[in-house]
Amino acid sequence: MSEASKTRVLWRGLTLRCARCGGGKLFHNYFTIVEDCPTCGLHFEREPGYWAGALAINIAAAGGLFAICFVALLAATIPHVPVGLSLALLLPIVILGPIVYYPFSKTVWVAVDRGFLQRLN
Ligand SMILES: [Zn+2]
Repeated sequence: MSEASKTRVLWRGLTLRCARCGGGKLFHNYFTIVEDCPTCGLHFEREPGYWAGALAINIAAAGGLFAICFVALLAATIPHVPVGLSLALLLPIVILGPIVYYPFSKTVWVAVDRGFLQRLN
């Protein structure tokens, strides 16, 4: 089997698929990833603390989305920034963003780890 390109590996992560084989059904439920890929057997949690990378990706994604929306809102409304409306729009991003992105952060982290960080296998 030929090795997938980095773009393909990252795309697999973004679409909740296994970074190595592209197989799906990687979650028992929304918050619980399977231990091994049901298609190729890749063991996802390589070591204790492995998912800290997924946490960092989740925080970066939510923070990035918040920053983009915050700057766009400021740019559109300055000098009369509506504080109440801003909070109503931005707080859900900060609170719900990491929850919505949670499963994606795990598969994207596996993709980043396998596609960009690992060179051993
Ligand atoms: Zn797989």
